Amino acid sequence: MTSPSHTFSDVIAEHDWDQVREQIRAVTPAEVERALAHPRPGLREFAALISPAALPYVGEMAAMSQARTRQRFGNTIQMYLPVYLHNECQNVCTYCGFSMGNKMQRTVLDEADLDAEIAVIKPMGFQHLLLVSGETTTLGVDYFARCMDRFRPHFSQLSIEVQPLERDEYARLSNEHGLHAVMVYQENYHQERYRQWHKAGKKRNFHYRLQTPDRLGQAGVHKVGLGFLIGLDDWRTEAWFTRLHLDYLERRYWRTKYSLSFPRLRPFAGGRPEVDMSDAEFVQLICAHRLVDGEVELSLSTRERAAFRDVLLPLGFTTISAGSATDPGGYSRPKQALEQFEISDERSPAVMAEVIRSLGLEPVWKDWDRALERRA
Ligand code: SF4
Repeated sequence: MTSPSHTFSDVIAEHDWDQVREQIRAVTPAEVERALAHPRPGLREFAALISPAALPYVGEMAAMSQARTRQRFGNTIQMYLPVYLHNECQNVCTYCGFSMGNKMQRTVLDEADLDAEIAVIKPMGFQHLLLVSGETTTLGVDYFARCMDRFRPHFSQLSIEVQPLERDEYARLSNEHGLHAVMVYQENYHQERYRQWHKAGKKRNFHYRLQTPDRLGQAGVHKVGLGFLIGLDDWRTEAWFTRLHLDYLERRYWRTKYSLSFPRLRPFAGGRPEVDMSDAEFVQLICAHRLVDGEVELSLSTRERAAFRDVLLPLGFTTISAGSATDPGGYSRPKQALEQFEISDERSPAVMAEVIRSLGLEPVWKDWDRALERRA
């Protein structure tokens, strides 16, 4: 039996980044074909499916992924909207516009600001909001609880993407303030390089962040979202470690639901991504996850450009955002120079819903599980 103090830090310590990267690079076409035919693919098959040798099989993978997604999730796509609460941050992340050293106006939404956001967002039709913030200890769990209480009467699902919190804080938000899900992206699974991207602040503690999904599982939060920031390091090795993380969590906290996001670095204040990933490789990554995991939700953000999003949508995704603003107060105030990153797909939620319908899918604005139950 696993000891309660055992976390994903113990699991990752058993694997060597360079060895994993070389194993993925050495995969042969015969191994890819075996992975595609495997009845219960796991980590070994995942490595084959994300390898360079699998790129010529992307069309086949996409068809299989699409069929598997429709089989499990029906023809539905869940819509959500990110809402930025504040852009204060005590971390120095070299790739982010909100980084502590950046000279910019900092904004913290108060109750009146939140009401102004609600007044604009509510008519758009969204019921699922992702509350996003910078990471500062001066705005902790009490602030998030107040924000959630403000939104709660108007929306049926509230998720957060904020600084990692303690287990009891997650339990409080979940039990008393209607927290549905927490997104916490590791950004980079390479322990030494992680410290190059994260130069100062609490986020520099690789293992505290890495163990956050453990704390969420222990707190009984309904859903946990994982991901890495595409553009910082070798994407194939990052993807393998993300898969390892998810496999571990799915076994250990089996009551929790999981989602994966695929943020590709966009130009940000003061820089550009270091590592490129082609569109075909992006599709390969999505399909590889779907082929080894029929249950995980896959989320697509407005970082990807409109035409590519339309191609991607049916292939394996279950959740998308639309009409996103990435600055605090971004829905109710005239645009200010406060964005975390530039979005690529600027189409409105209504236009996006039409696009989804034109693809033979049904946009779902409300509760995902209930929509699925109705179908079942
Ligand atoms: S990525 Fe997050 S933690 Fe890092 S600077 Fe940006 S807002 Fe702060």
